[in-house]
Amino acid sequence: MRVTVDDGDEGDDRSSSKTGVELLCVVKAVLKKIRRRVLVGDKVLVGSIDWVDRRGMIENVFHRRSEIHDPPVANVDHLLVLFSLDQPKLEPFTLTRFLVEAESTGIPLTLALNKSELITEEELESWKIRLRGWSYDPLFCSVGTKDGLDEIAYILRNQTSVIVGPSGVGKSSLINMLRTNSGGSVEDENWFEPILGNSKWFEDQRVGEVSSRSGRGKHTTRNVSLLPLSEGGFLADTPGFNQPSLLKVTKQSLALCFPEIRKLIEEEKCGFKDCLHIGEPGCVVKGDWERYPYYLQLLDEIRVREEFQLRTF
Ligand code: GDP
Ligand code: ZN
Repeated sequence: MRVTVDDGDEGDDRSSSKTGVELLCVVKAVLKKIRRRVLVGDKVLVGSIDWVDRRGMIENVFHRRSEIHDPPVANVDHLLVLFSLDQPKLEPFTLTRFLVEAESTGIPLTLALNKSELITEEELESWKIRLRGWSYDPLFCSVGTKDGLDEIAYILRNQTSVIVGPSGVGKSSLINMLRTNSGGSVEDENWFEPILGNSKWFEDQRVGEVSSRSGRGKHTTRNVSLLPLSEGGFLADTPGFNQPSLLKVTKQSLALCFPEIRKLIEEEKCGFKDCLHIGEPGCVVKGDWERYPYYLQLLDEIRVREEFQLRTF
């Protein structure tokens, strides 16, 4: 795994110059033994560092703020849900599935709608109003004309983000665009000061962030890397959620993945704890919101899945 050193020992000039250095690391056997998987994005403690060959060993993994599985990345701060307004057309139910999947991670999200040059101002305005009714404030952009990309770069700054969305909407194009505009690799060829023979550097322990898998080893499933962005922060080079499985969503948590009613449920509390908001007495959720039919459809899907799981196990 490649780990970017991100601590600088204040007061020691030489060590702070190691910030940003990339080390190729193996994972300590004991971590493998306890099946502690190391993910891209993990904060780790690196030891046995050989600064000359830029190698080290991951000795421990710090607590994760968040984790997603598709692609496997830890400590994601932000999801950019990307859809296109045309080619393929924006389909409200598909969009809802992706939004529910994204909401279920608990990670803050931004909704961005690409290919804005393919629709009229009126159509764009009507989507804006409609999606505000869903409690989202979408960004409109076009990777083709570069419209709105500054705003996206601004939103991604200083965070670790993953772009998610269906195929054909422009995810890879956007990642490539942001990659081209980013400041390049964190690797700085001039970092090394020859201090051979000073064993202190070989006993060193540092905190670093896993930036990519090495690509070696047959157990490497998907090779995701974090691209450094020019404004600071990182973007996963692999988009995610191609097929939202909703596996983390339960019948009870589904409603909380709809921001237009989440507040209502949290603040006013429903009649009883396990309310599914389908007309139970005392329920505060009425059927008067646009996505209620989608909610019912997804609830049904989750119900079938949960019943199947009960029968199977
Ligand atoms: P992905 O499957 O989401 O990664 O989508 P791609 O990045 O592969 O893009 C799918 C197609 O949409 C490609 O032919 C792109 O050139 C095209 N595309 C991407 N962004 C735009 C855009 O802003 N406008 C138009 N018209 N086409 C775009
Ligand atoms: Zn209710």
